[in-house]
Amino acid sequence: MIIDGKQAAADLRAELAIEVKQLRQEKNITPGLTVVLVGEDPASQVYVRNKVKQTREVGMISEQIKLPTETSQDDLLAILDKLNNDPSVHGILVQLPLPQHIDESTIIAAIVPEKDVDGFHAMNSGRLVNGEAGALIPCTPQGCIILAKKHLGDDLSGQHAVVIGRSNIVGKPVALLLLQENCTVTIAHSRTKNLAEICKQADILVAAVGRPEFVQADWVKAGATVIDVGINRIELDGKTKLVGDVDYAAVADVCGAITPVPGGVGPMTIACLLKNTVEAARRFG
Ligand code: NAD
Repeated sequence: MIIDGKQAAADLRAELAIEVKQLRQEKNITPGLTVVLVGEDPASQVYVRNKVKQTREVGMISEQIKLPTETSQDDLLAILDKLNNDPSVHGILVQLPLPQHIDESTIIAAIVPEKDVDGFHAMNSGRLVNGEAGALIPCTPQGCIILAKKHLGDDLSGQHAVVIGRSNIVGKPVALLLLQENCTVTIAHSRTKNLAEICKQADILVAAVGRPEFVQADWVKAGATVIDVGINRIELDGKTKLVGDVDYAAVADVCGAITPVPGGVGPMTIACLLKNTVEAARRFG
């Protein structure tokens, strides 16, 4: 089975559009997301454009603040301070990566946790670790869980989940979410020994490595659910092609279900960003 992330994201956006309408009718609140982009990185520009477009499509307010590469950290902090105090802004997202002269962790820490719709603030990651209510959960990991459930149903308890990757953006939070879902979780990473053997034990295998077609068919247990987070651009016959961290064609023959790249986790990331913004707006009201 192919787990269709495009469809799942469209379904989620349709649900959110209804919620946005209700928030407006019942509480006179229109959720607002402001995306801040510093510099000219072409991939970031595409991501930001898509975020703004999809936010507006579900009926929310979306603002974009574009700043030149040479913007100082202090100027960026001053902008964040304004947004933190603006009641019409429920979600703030600073597009990463930032230019080198700006310290990412200082910037993330400067967003009030209640508006940190990326879920990267230490308050939100701490709440996730503690299993406390009220955390804004990072978007890509949320998307991974929704997609796994599309195949396995809502109850993931007892499944052995193997996550390859331990980044703060994907690997760690997705492992914590799987733990919250009562999975038995193994986190593998660049220093893991016997990676293939460990992956082969997985009922749910999440690949967040950043290496094209890294996961091979003989690492995957028959019938496993494979969630491929990777987005890698490779050159093929003189053209650029997007591939995941999983050797899709070979693994698809072995596993029970798999997310394609593109069209899997990617579309869910933005849909979950909209979900977090609606959540932040609802709490605000
Ligand atoms: P990262 O570089 O921060 O982390 C990669 C992780 O992979 C590290 O924890 C490292 O330990 C592990 N790793 C590297 N080489 C390994 C090896 N040989 N064996 C085992 N583990 C190894 O990357 P990231 O930000 O977590 O992103 C991972 C991938 O997911 C990238 O392709 C990225 O583009 C993609 N991504 C996609 C989305 C989306 O919306 N679909 C969002 C974020 C990231």
